[in-house]
Amino acid sequence: MRIDIISAVPDLMHSSFNHSILKRAINNKLVEVNLINLREYAIGGKSKQIDDYAFGGGAGMVLMIEPIDKCISQLKSERTYDDIIYMSPDGELLTQKLCNKLSLVKNIIILCGHYKGVDERVREHLITREVSIGDYVLSGGELPAAVLSDAVIRLLPGVLNDETSALSDSFQDNLLAPPVYSRPAEYKGWGIPPVLLSGHGANIDKWRHEQSIERTKLRRPNLLH
Ligand code: SAH
Repeated sequence: MRIDIISAVPDLMHSSFNHSILKRAINNKLVEVNLINLREYAIGGKSKQIDDYAFGGGAGMVLMIEPIDKCISQLKSERTYDDIIYMSPDGELLTQKLCNKLSLVKNIIILCGHYKGVDERVREHLITREVSIGDYVLSGGELPAAVLSDAVIRLLPGVLNDETSALSDSFQDNLLAPPVYSRPAEYKGWGIPPVLLSGHGANIDKWRHEQSIERTKLRRPNLLH
């Protein structure tokens, strides 16, 4: 899979892709992530302009259509994209279901907005999907793009050490994950459920499944309907 992320401040995302699971996935060539600086497509020579005032006035700058169009056109001339996504607070809410779906595609572009957002014509003519990471507003689309990429990349075959690991995470099968424990088995007098020490695989699986259902009923009953 290839993810091209277009941003006015790509440095904001470096850390996310340069550590731990995502770094390993990239090094092992399970995914290719390109952080593209929108300023490379700026208009007006030296001034490197990518934003301008909003028509009609009001506070806040708007990312201009021309640099974004030039950048997306360049990428599209090199390969075909399954989706061109704009991160936006008014987009479709990011869910595990959407991540599962995106993990099956080959090439995507993620466009990060900044300031007041992007010229609406970008959204009307160049974008195929708009995604929000929640009902709150951030300063830019970089953290949302990193969130989306992380959630998708960890689903790619070979990225997690234990192949079944992502399948037992919350939201797969509409259930929350059961509690997990590690050593020591007793700490400050706080113990762990004895079944986990029983060595009895079937009983442990049964307990975990029951816990998942209990937890979902209690915390997110809407998932069960
Ligand atoms: N004026 C816009 C917010 C702009 S915030 C509005 O009121 O809807 C600047 C940029 O941050 C947006 O263009 C978007 O790319 C990104 N962003 C902010 N919050 C986000 C969220 N919850 N999900 C996804 N992207 C978000």
